[in-house]
Amino acid sequence: MKYDAVVMGGGLAGLICGIRLTQSGLSCAIVSAGQNALHFSSGSLDLLTHLPNGQLVERPLEALEALSEQSPHHPYSRLGKLAVIKLTHQAEALLQQSGIKLKGSSDENHYRITPLGHKRLTWLSPKSVPTVDLHKKMKMGKIAVVGIEGFLDFQPQMVSDELQREGLAASAYYVHLPLLDRLRENASEFRAINVARWLDRPENMAQIVAEMAPLVAESESIFMPACIGLDSEEPLLELQKQLGKPIYLLPTLPPSLLGIRLHEALLRQFRRQGGIIMPGDKVTSVNCVGSRIESVMTRNHGDISLKASQFVLATGSFFNNGLVAEFDRVYEPLMHLDLCDIPQRGQWTNKEFFASQPYMAFGVQTDDQLRAQKEGQTFENLYVAGAILGGFDPLTEGCGAGVSLISGLHAAEEIIGYFARQKAMQAEVAQ
Ligand SMILES: Cc1cc2nc3c(=O)[nH]c(=O)nc-3n(C[C@H](O)[C@H](O)[C@H](O)COP(=O)(O)OP(=O)(O)OC[C@H]3O[C@@H](n4cnc5c(N)ncnc54)[C@H](O)[C@@H]3O)c2cc1C
Repeated sequence: MKYDAVVMGGGLAGLICGIRLTQSGLSCAIVSAGQNALHFSSGSLDLLTHLPNGQLVERPLEALEALSEQSPHHPYSRLGKLAVIKLTHQAEALLQQSGIKLKGSSDENHYRITPLGHKRLTWLSPKSVPTVDLHKKMKMGKIAVVGIEGFLDFQPQMVSDELQREGLAASAYYVHLPLLDRLRENASEFRAINVARWLDRPENMAQIVAEMAPLVAESESIFMPACIGLDSEEPLLELQKQLGKPIYLLPTLPPSLLGIRLHEALLRQFRRQGGIIMPGDKVTSVNCVGSRIESVMTRNHGDISLKASQFVLATGSFFNNGLVAEFDRVYEPLMHLDLCDIPQRGQWTNKEFFASQPYMAFGVQTDDQLRAQKEGQTFENLYVAGAILGGFDPLTEGCGAGVSLISGLHAAEEIIGYFARQKAMQAEVAQ
């Protein structure tokens, strides 16, 4: 099987890369072993919320120079300010074209409300999530924070206490929904996605409205856990219409409905554009000749290799086994690629729990084009994208999704450029 490009890993980085490649008319296959970080994420996307020295970032694109000074190995610093700005705008446009309804912009971060009721800076948030602009007060009138009886992954009291501390009029309620009684029998099944499968059924809407209406009668807006609208926004819009007031969704503990919806929308867009996705398959080995990758072997394809001119490694970090940590060593399991500097074992973690943890910035070493290296030699046709890259801390710098989107798009643009040059050369030869 031969493609223009093969992408290893179908998380945010791999999918955005595949979407851009197929949009430009190239053939692309994505091999994706399993769940990705989006299934566990808030659904909001961070670009850059803090500099490494802890300074809060209000305008991410204006902070890129300071980031370069403080963190020259950060993927944004490697790519350079102008490229990051261009790719950020491209990411915003591609997400919109993929039918993902997000609010926010790279001009200025905004706050989203977390499942604990705190405010957290971010770049883009799903339309249904409660947000507040910088230096503004939330204006939602009396808020009813409605939990679901028996659903332990969301505590309305904690949220409403926190909102009250912010000076907002918030009250906590629990709605009892008999339609969930069967689910309630097994606590491990009582998770956001399973709840949504019941709440999304049109025949259950009347009961949900009947149970919620008296609780929220005095309120002007409703906060509830993101347990409704798994496949589409319709059930949420219908509930909103019937209750006659705006409903905002707060992310829950994983699996996260808001993250899964984002993943599904990207997947649909990739397929719509002719991309080939191989879910549940896993790249098991990579065949190289000199400094070029020729093909990859996968678990499900046996001795049939996937050949391509260009490859992208987007297998994620420790969370999805893109990187592996043993007691005293860290390695990239597919090709044993070079990693950025890994300190002595005793310095992998910081004793201060809330401080930046050094292991978060571990990852694959690349050249400035984000191409992988092994024993100091650069692979000419293997780009690295997403959480597997080294040199940044997605948690304390608030840049996880941004690095995935920008490095994924950078890889795609490099590959598109390669094929354009090939075509131009062929045309010249033909003349
Ligand atoms: C739990 C969690 C929550 C997060 N929440 C947020 C958030 O709310 N906002 C934010 O901005 N950022 C968040 N992040 C940061 C996150 O790293 C990025 O946002 C981004 O989703 C990472 O995408 P990725 O594609 O690089 O990697 P991943 O999402 O990890 O995807 C890698 C994929 O590669 C697959 N894979 C691995 N090995 C192979 C192989 N050999 N062959 C084929 N496939 C393979 C994996 O199965 C997985 O599907 C979160 C991270 C984690 C871990």
